[in-house]
This record gives sequence, structure tokens and C-alpha cells, in this order.
Amino acid sequence: VLDSFTLRIDADAAIDAQALRAAPATMILKVTSNVRKSSNRHPPSLHLLWLGNTAEAPPPSPGTRFVDRRGCVLIPGMVNAHTHLDLTHVGPREYDPSEGFLGFVRTVLGERLQDEGALHASVLRGVELTHRGGVVAVGDIAGAIAGCPSLAPWRALSESGVGGVSFLEFLAMGGREEEGLSAMHSALSEWEREEAGASCIRLGLQPHATYTASLRAYREAVVAARARSPALPICTHLGENREEHELIETGTGPFRGLLERAGMWNDAVAREFGRGRSPVMHVGDALRGASFLCAHVNDASDEDIALLAECGASVAYCPRGSAYFRNHESFGPHRYRDMLRAGVNVCLGTDSIINLPQGSDDARAGRISTLDEARFLFARDGGDARELLAMCTTRGARALGLHESLFTFELGPNDAPRTIAGVVSVPLGAGDRNDPLQCVLACDTAPELLAPRLEGVRA
Ligand SMILES: [Zn+2]
Repeated sequence: VLDSFTLRIDADAAIDAQALRAAPATMILKVTSNVRKSSNRHPPSLHLLWLGNTAEAPPPSPGTRFVDRRGCVLIPGMVNAHTHLDLTHVGPREYDPSEGFLGFVRTVLGERLQDEGALHASVLRGVELTHRGGVVAVGDIAGAIAGCPSLAPWRALSESGVGGVSFLEFLAMGGREEEGLSAMHSALSEWEREEAGASCIRLGLQPHATYTASLRAYREAVVAARARSPALPICTHLGENREEHELIETGTGPFRGLLERAGMWNDAVAREFGRGRSPVMHVGDALRGASFLCAHVNDASDEDIALLAECGASVAYCPRGSAYFRNHESFGPHRYRDMLRAGVNVCLGTDSIINLPQGSDDARAGRISTLDEARFLFARDGGDARELLAMCTTRGARALGLHESLFTFELGPNDAPRTIAGVVSVPLGAGDRNDPLQCVLACDTAPELLAPRLEGVRA
């Protein structure tokens, strides 16, 4: 049973990564929900029917529902290309630089939920905060349960109605290479048995990082991803911190001790490291084999950036995360603008809630959100507001293998209706009202996901 209605939204402006579409703006949508479904598995679909200046809006058809958001700017539903929603229960934490990244690893290992029900609840809470932040699609890293890759986050995301990719994460190195790879393969088979094409969330693969997945593990992940049709999206943590750089370049440092203690170090592993390579160069063959989404890449030389561009890799930059871990102290400022200039698709992620500001677990704050990350960059670096909006929307979509047009307000050819993923209303704060996008980035107001969630919509 399909239930549909027409929704008209009036606002000060409607903007996407391509253009200021209208100001003042009226948007008319057809909202169709499948009322048979008791769960949110299929959120309402949105068809953009008309968008233009309010003065030129067509007369409303009978039964139209109205939403008045004058004083606000409409932007498309956003993408968070790198997050760890399974860690939502931990909440924001202070970083202790004297402990370094290993201290953070200990926190995560100590706090990680082992119980599937609790994990499910943590992911759903993460989706709630994500929606409150105006984000409708995520690249979520499914953390392991008791060291085993887990489909529990994928199931929770499927139920939540959020879009995007659940990246099945696995570790496989040294004495634990075989067990890690076979766990990855069996989780994939389990997913294939369960998935009936019904979920709004895709499965992807994530060899965790260069310091926990061997080069063979990367190769096998690429082969497994490409063996599916369509190919599974593939992601990894890359070039994140100086401990990783030291391990790969010289085969020494704190990560080596960690690997030895975890039974993940042996002669074969020793031969892969200590060859003077950067993390990006270390996985160059894997990058050439698939369109990787690389999380962070704080550590990037000119040669690294050229390789990422050549391979068509995307980078999920998590500005607050990088600042939290003080990665600039090791590598200098993040080179996202150099990457964009070189042709690398750079998008934004939030990383886990642990590295977000205090209060980010309060739903009213409108975080976990890439809009908040873009605002952080805009305040710190200035820069091109439209590019920042693209990094929250279309570039994130491209990185996750989603249709970019879903994250715009573009109508089809000859103004034909087009499906869109979401509409977000951002109340304007102070600022230059002549430039609404500038205002959206300069203010600190909480975004509101108007559709497809529709809580603010009354008949
Ligand atoms: Zn991460």
C-alpha cells in the first residue's frame, strides 16, 4: 500500500553544491511511504517536483501539506563518509596526548560492546544523532565483536532506514592472518544469505588499517569486493598517525609492540615493513585494484597525493578527529585542499563520537554531522563554501558509490521530477544574509532534517 502526499516548503533560500537554486525558495515534493512496513526499513521516498522563487510557485494542489521555514536555508540531506556509530554509547572523551594513539586504542578496546543487543542500541542511537545532524547516508565502520567481523551494525542500520554503506571491518596479520581472512569470508557469506536486496544500506569491506591488515589481506579484500556485482565499496584507515608511519617506514615503534603482544607479528610481516615507504605507497597495489575510500590520510606527501589521484581513491577527512589527535603536530596541516586540486575526491567524516566536542551526544546539538565538520573547517581555514557543501553531500556520495544527484536539488531533464535523499533546514544565525551559504557555515544553529523524517510536517 503506497501512501503519498504533496509537501510544500517555504524558506529563505535553497542551496546545493552546484548553485543557489532559489531565494526566497519554495520546494514542492511528493512524499511516498510504504505504509505496510512496520519498521523504518524503507523510509519515505522523496520526489522533487518543483523548486524556484516563492513568487513564481504554482498554486497548491488539494491536500498539500505546508511547512514554513522562512528564516532558514534548505540544503540537501548530507553524507557522513566515515563514522563509527557502534561507539556512540561511549560519548565524547578528552584526549590524553601523553598516552598517544595507543591510549585511545585502549579506550576503544575497553569500551567496545560485546553484546549484540547493546551494540544494536548503540548504532541506533548513533543514527538518531546522525539524523538530527541532517545526515541521511553514512559510511559506517562495523567494529568487530570479540575480534570477529560483525554484521550486527549492518542489521541495525538496515532497520534504521539510514542510507549508505556498512563497512565490514576485519583485522588479518601475522599469526592471525588466516583466522582474520576466514572470518571476513564467512561474514560475507552470512550477509549473502541474509540480504535479499531489501536493505537501504549496502555492505562494504574494510581491512581495518595498514598496521592490522597484511598486504595479502588487502589483496583478498579487493578480490572479494570485485567478485560481487555490483562490486562492494571498500574502505580502510590510511595515513592516520605517526605510529603508523614509523611502523611502515622502519618496522619499529609502539605499533610493533602492540602487534607482537597480539600475536600479529611474524617474519612475513617484518618483511613487509621497514622498507622506507609511506603508508599510502605501502598499499599502492591495493589502491590500484579498486576505488578505495581512505579514511583520514593526515600523512600525505606530494607523491602520495599523486598516487591517490591516479588510482581514483577518495579521502574521508575527519577535521575534528584530526585536530583531536593533534595529527597536524606530526604531519603539518591536513592537505585536503592540495588533494582536491590534484583531483582526489575529498569528502568529510566525523570519525567516532569519542573525538567530537563535549555535548555531541545531546540530540538537540545537531551533531554527529558533517555540517559541523564543514563549519569547523570554515572557521579555521575559510575557503570555498560551495566546495565545503560538496564535501558534505555529492563528494561523500561519490566516495560511497551513491548517486550524486540524490544529494542535490537538481531536477531531471526538462524539469522532470527527480528522487532526492533528503531536505535539511538550517536556521540562519547572524551573518551576511545576502550570502545564505556563507551564513549556513558561519553560524552554529542545529540543522533539522525535514524529509524523509517528517517529524516537523503536519497536515
Ligand atoms: Zn575510523
